[in-house]
Amino acid sequence: MRIAVGGIHIECSTFNPVLTHEEEFRIVKGESLLDAPYFQFLQDYPATFMPTLHARCIPGGPVARETYENFKAEFLARLKAALPVDGLYLAMHGAMYVEGMEDAEGDWITAARECVGDSCPVAVSYDLHGNVTQRIIDAIDMYSTYRTAPHIDIEETMRRSVTMLVNSIQTGIRPGVVWAPIPVMLPGERTSTEDEPAKSLYATLPVSDTIPGILDSSLMVGYVWADEPRATAAAIFTGTDAAVLKQQAEKLAQYYWDVREEFVFGCRTGTLQATVQQAIASTTFPVILADSGDNPTGGGVGDRADMLAELLRQNAQHTLIAGIMDAQATQAAFSAGVGATIELTLGASLDPAGKSVSAHFTVKNLLAAGEHSNANQAVLQTAGITVVVADRRRPYHDIADFTSLGLDPATVKILVVKSGYLSPELAPLANPNLMALSEGVVDQDIERVPRLRMFTKTWPFARDIDFTPKVFASARAPFSLES
Ligand SMILES: [Zn+2]
Repeated sequence: MRIAVGGIHIECSTFNPVLTHEEEFRIVKGESLLDAPYFQFLQDYPATFMPTLHARCIPGGPVARETYENFKAEFLARLKAALPVDGLYLAMHGAMYVEGMEDAEGDWITAARECVGDSCPVAVSYDLHGNVTQRIIDAIDMYSTYRTAPHIDIEETMRRSVTMLVNSIQTGIRPGVVWAPIPVMLPGERTSTEDEPAKSLYATLPVSDTIPGILDSSLMVGYVWADEPRATAAAIFTGTDAAVLKQQAEKLAQYYWDVREEFVFGCRTGTLQATVQQAIASTTFPVILADSGDNPTGGGVGDRADMLAELLRQNAQHTLIAGIMDAQATQAAFSAGVGATIELTLGASLDPAGKSVSAHFTVKNLLAAGEHSNANQAVLQTAGITVVVADRRRPYHDIADFTSLGLDPATVKILVVKSGYLSPELAPLANPNLMALSEGVVDQDIERVPRLRMFTKTWPFARDIDFTPKVFASARAPFSLES
């Protein structure tokens, strides 16, 4: 059994003005794909996997057109060279936006479909923050998506997809995909599966998987910072029994719609000014204050210094900010060396919409790119505030991100991270966790973000919606939904 494997994985805020280029992706191709930790699980299947190309990047701005076209051309060339194959598995994210292109995953997946031909089964796995279209559904045979946010079931999801594919090839039984779009768009921070109502909603999925005729049950939250016509939540099912699939898709879509007003942030939120004030006044620590509008793992730029400006204005002490992407400031710190005090203008180095801060900073530590990070990083100090700067966009969501710089996030009074909901490693430390509804290209106050390309009435941008779930089958499904 020969199964080709590849894909492209990035989440792009269409509001982010900074294009994403090839050098920001982690690319695995040929044999290096099968050696990558991400794809190690494939060894457990009785198949010969034919590696093509997989490109993965932290969320960010639109993918530069040339970068995308180069990836796609190499992926297709490698896929063609791997033919004939019995199946194709694509590991996708689903919220890619390519310069000047509508429905980028639709472009990638339909091109792959054309390459492998009509008779080849195609399975995909997605992030639940992806957006799908009928064009995508029409090109695939099996679909699975994460059931946790924060995402702790990535491999499990990929396994569900590959398991369906291997079983289909072994048995010769071809399933089909159905989907029901749900006109609701919410940020991931209000739909964390650790909190209700998402927790209970997602708990229904493994249960519906056990219903005869269903192979996989998926619920897409969608990606809200994509001002694209395709942005939507959706219930997506893979299986063999049309009536059961339709019924379950309708039920799940209706359930999501019915609880739409119950999705709230899992922590205390407020304006930048108010949350800084609350953090300073806190009698417990560390307060972990999320600068949510500039969260690079949500598609934010990660270069804004608005929070630093506000912390300085309110004279915050014992505060650590990790981090701000600023290549020039990082370079200046490396040139000056540890112990030097330098005058810097920090912030808004990529997106001029943000604030910058000019002050004297003492260089406390330097860490060149290497094993732990592909970014050069500097630890700077000004007034009572320690700031980590880096020359590449990156999050500080794991404890090792701090300890590698000689910093202990547990002992500061206020820790500021560019984040939405906190990562599994930081969440247990927070005492308490506050989220600033700060400005940025992933603004959590979604109703103040202009939607110029949303042509379907979608909650909460529109309130006068009369919703009845409608289920659509893949053009490839071996069944019809008409009774
Ligand atoms: Zn996600």
